[in-house]
Amino acid sequence: MRDFGPDSVISVVAPFYNEVDNIKAFVEELENEFEKIGYAKQHELILVNDGSTDGSDQELDSIIADHADKIKVISLSRNFGHSSAVCAGLEHASGEVVILMDSDMQDDPGCFDLFIQKWREGYDVVYSKRASRRESAPLRFLFWLFYRILLLMSDTYIPPDAGNFALMDRRVVNTLLSLPEKNIYMPGLRAWVGFKQIGVPVPRRPRYDNSARTGLKGKWNLAFNAIFSFSFLPLIIFRVLGIMALTISLTLASYTLYHKFISGLAVTAWASNLITISFFGGLNLFGIGIIGEYISRIYNEVRGRPKYIVDRITNSDTVFGNDQDTD
Ligand code: UDP
Ligand code: MG
Repeated sequence: MRDFGPDSVISVVAPFYNEVDNIKAFVEELENEFEKIGYAKQHELILVNDGSTDGSDQELDSIIADHADKIKVISLSRNFGHSSAVCAGLEHASGEVVILMDSDMQDDPGCFDLFIQKWREGYDVVYSKRASRRESAPLRFLFWLFYRILLLMSDTYIPPDAGNFALMDRRVVNTLLSLPEKNIYMPGLRAWVGFKQIGVPVPRRPRYDNSARTGLKGKWNLAFNAIFSFSFLPLIIFRVLGIMALTISLTLASYTLYHKFISGLAVTAWASNLITISFFGGLNLFGIGIIGEYISRIYNEVRGRPKYIVDRITNSDTVFGNDQDTD
């Protein structure tokens, strides 16, 4: 069994976007939990302010005044989205293990003890498997469907229903940080890096205000990102469709030529011509769309813009003497 050294730190990384009403309760809940499980003096909290516009900055300043030795706040220059905010947090965490969680009360800190126990047993990644969801029935169905489609399509095994909420060993965090890619689907990348992983069922609590900050568009983008980052199946499907279309068109061509040169019967087929033309037109556009999706991803990667820009770091050098915080 492994254990923490006397100077080891457990980092919690939590992004937040316009959660001003909850930050205080969130921090207090974490502090109480660490106290309860005996790590009151061995943890740090990295909060990433993902361009909040609701006055979270001032709220944080007052919270930091009470927990100056534990909390570091990374404020991004604008809203970059959950995945980018998570990367910013990971880059500024110094712990031997890092726990990634949301700051909206949906992830239960009561699981920390179990996460840590599994890490002690030798697991490098302990991830939450969502045992129950609080969303509406149609949304739950869409999540269920998404995870199954991803399972079917992905080249890497991405465990279904695995959420962002997880504990990761420093080796895993360093490996994730060394990956240059910008289109991030964290549960997928985490599975891709390997090491020893285990999922633990965790009930997902309700959101404190029932108003998700990641809208349907954000969730759709994430689902798209997951599929196109981990699968070439859309291209393969298109290739198969192309072969099928070619076979159909060759058959039609032979049929037409047979009647023109051998049977001598005219082929009067305006309707089938129209159908064929529009079918191939649609198929081409569909294919271009899929290729375009991969190309836009390549473009996004090669233009080399950073995943996020830091506006300011509060408390950068009080957390366990960590001084590697300048970007
Ligand atoms: N979040 C963020 N940036 C965003 C949207 C959300 O940092 O652009 C944070 C948000 O404050 C929350 C977490 O990411 O702590 C998850 O967001 P949300 O609850 O909206 O997503 P869901 O739980 O519905 O997937
Ligand atoms: Mg949430």
